[in-house]
Amino acid sequence: MTDRTTAPDRGGRDGGRPGGVVQTFRGPVSPAALGRTLIHEHVFVGSTELDVNHPHPEWDESAAIARAARQLTELYRLGVRTVVDLTVLGLGRDVARVARVAQQVPVHLVASTGYYTSNVLPPFFGTHGPGRLVGGPDPLVEFFVGDIEVGIAGSGVRAGMLKVVTDAEGITEDVARVMTAAAVAHQQTGVPITTHSRPDLRNGLDQQAFLRAAGVDLSRVVIGHCGDSEDIPYLRGLMDAGSTIGMDRFGMEHVLPDERRVAVVLELLRLGYADRMVLSHDAASFSRVTPPSWRAVHAPNWNFGNIPRRIVPMLLEGGASPEDVDRMMIDNPARLLGSAR
Ligand SMILES: [Zn+2]
Repeated sequence: MTDRTTAPDRGGRDGGRPGGVVQTFRGPVSPAALGRTLIHEHVFVGSTELDVNHPHPEWDESAAIARAARQLTELYRLGVRTVVDLTVLGLGRDVARVARVAQQVPVHLVASTGYYTSNVLPPFFGTHGPGRLVGGPDPLVEFFVGDIEVGIAGSGVRAGMLKVVTDAEGITEDVARVMTAAAVAHQQTGVPITTHSRPDLRNGLDQQAFLRAAGVDLSRVVIGHCGDSEDIPYLRGLMDAGSTIGMDRFGMEHVLPDERRVAVVLELLRLGYADRMVLSHDAASFSRVTPPSWRAVHAPNWNFGNIPRRIVPMLLEGGASPEDVDRMMIDNPARLLGSAR
């Protein structure tokens, strides 16, 4: 399945930069040791201030930790070896809590940094930073670089991926500030950037334009949530400009059924894009945004095991080769995650 002629070959199985390491909850590992990787997942999604003041009725911390540990242990049995937790600031990130899960599970967990906002940042950022009331350097840059180089919140767990968000509001002033800080942190550390995008608005193109202007090599960027789209010319354009696309919402059948997500991946494989796609679910073991009781009724396939259980067999049945699957699940994540300095 290689027809593509428009984009340069950036290498497959040996495409990870030699000597790179990937920071995980258990410390640095070699990119070659990552194995099958889910590059866009969430262990726990919350809202820290709400959780303190108005805990969700379905939340029970020790039960949630035990449940996540069971699910991730089962995932290892299904052949997955690494899960990237893209729960950044704004989504209730609590690395100490995830570390309690990581201690119990055989899969590698990778933490991330960045800021999840589609519109405005909290007031703290309005008064801190160059030219602002309190002044000082931009705290976003300090947070992102510190999370990557030193570790998150004193845990020693270092972030392996950066995440930014643009949505219907476009690149607002605060979103631009987050993206600029992510670009700076990326350039200092080599850690790749992923995005939350809205493919129905084709805004991955705006993300690419912004990041390119900020000096980011687009081959170091994953345009996330592209799996929500069936717009082949749009998706090809993002990949032809150098980026990898996240076919990263398998199981979100309330947005697009998995059969149609699979059909798009198969079409792009036929067009030769095996080295530009990554597969994931954007699932969560617990999310207060869409709590377990809602998911059980409305999105029964939206869980960490969906890709190994249902999607890989559908891809193979539809004509993908085992090598195509390895490219998307092993080589491409290793190439992206493995070039941090
Ligand atoms: Zn996500």
